[in-house]
Amino acid sequence: MSATPDWSAIRGDFPLLTREVNGKPLIYFDSANTSQKPEQVIAAVDDFYRHHNANVSRAVHTLGSEATEAYEGARGKLARFLNVRADELVLCSGTTFAMNLIAYSWALPKLKAGDTILLTRMEHHANIVPWQLVAERTGATIKVANLRPDGSLDLDALYAAMTPDVKLLGVAHVSNVLGTVNPVREICKEARKRGIVTVVDGSQAVPHMAVDIPAIGCDFYAFTGHKLCGPTGTGALWARKELLEAMPPFLGGGEMIKEVSFDGTVFNDVPRKFEAGTPNIAGFVGLGAAVDYLQAIGMDTIHARESELLAYATKVLSDIPGLRIIGTAPGKAAIISFVVEGAHAHDLATLLDIEGIAVRSGQHCAHPLLQSLGVSATCRASFAFYNTKDEIDRFAAALRKVRTLLA
Ligand code: PLP
Repeated sequence: MSATPDWSAIRGDFPLLTREVNGKPLIYFDSANTSQKPEQVIAAVDDFYRHHNANVSRAVHTLGSEATEAYEGARGKLARFLNVRADELVLCSGTTFAMNLIAYSWALPKLKAGDTILLTRMEHHANIVPWQLVAERTGATIKVANLRPDGSLDLDALYAAMTPDVKLLGVAHVSNVLGTVNPVREICKEARKRGIVTVVDGSQAVPHMAVDIPAIGCDFYAFTGHKLCGPTGTGALWARKELLEAMPPFLGGGEMIKEVSFDGTVFNDVPRKFEAGTPNIAGFVGLGAAVDYLQAIGMDTIHARESELLAYATKVLSDIPGLRIIGTAPGKAAIISFVVEGAHAHDLATLLDIEGIAVRSGQHCAHPLLQSLGVSATCRASFAFYNTKDEIDRFAAALRKVRTLLA
């Protein structure tokens, strides 16, 4: 694509963005929750069901081969997108599944009383609760690294917390509340020096920047496809082949086996060993199309566009009296959490919805973070490359209006 893409034409690829909500043109500022889907993704899913639908890896008939090819083709596209080997990419329903897979297949057999799991204060529940379940069953404990007032990680404190008892570190690549982009490459390097296994939650990073997983140097990288313009119920876990091979399966059933008898079962090779049952085939076909779509625009181009929208929105919102942005770390992603004096976040979001504006309000699946920030809830406006400055202007005008209604 050219150096200056036609953003208006790109926006035109997203049919849902033309609809009205409450009689007003929709302004969708909730892409960190789930992204909208371009026509190309919708068409790929539609084409799969109309012309190729069959189960994968089971039938020798033509449709069976086409479905397997399409599913494995999507794995290949995702692998190239993230610069990893296709046979190191476990396809699954998303980050939550991926984290539980690591928890049950890696952590549960490995950890014991006296071991520590190190997490950061900004983690999503998907990178907290599975570890609490593991801690409960193994006797391991959880330690939490704190943040600086701007919402960045206190790296000195994090490295100091990497004591010999720490066996696993869970860290978000990008915070879904603060937008903070963590220096995961440096963090993983420090962890590796101390023999700590690293789990990076890439849910909010992969949709917004070029991600080269091997360059990060982590042990596990998880992400979700529905924030990446792909269908819901898609995502993946990456880990080195030797690591995956050494781990027992998470779920048992069809597809994850080579041979089954009542005397015992021979598991399939990785990554299939971790893909029990019929996968979300059409979903992955759609996710493959999403990757094609994003790569045609270019992830660096997308990142630059979203950074511009973020800078513009930060400036415009900062002029609104009583509005406070939470998370101001330099280089953050296009996510703005905010509170408005005298107005509850849910009331704000409800009144904005009447204006056709979709923002998320609440605790954003990050209760411990919100508790530490001393706020019960925030509103979160999250932008994608298909948003516009005009939408940001209308959002700011609506915010000024609803603020006076609530004051
Ligand atoms: N981690 C982060 C940082 C997220 O933002 C999300 C989604 O909101 C998740 C994990 C969970 O993703 P999923 O619900 O797709 O499993």
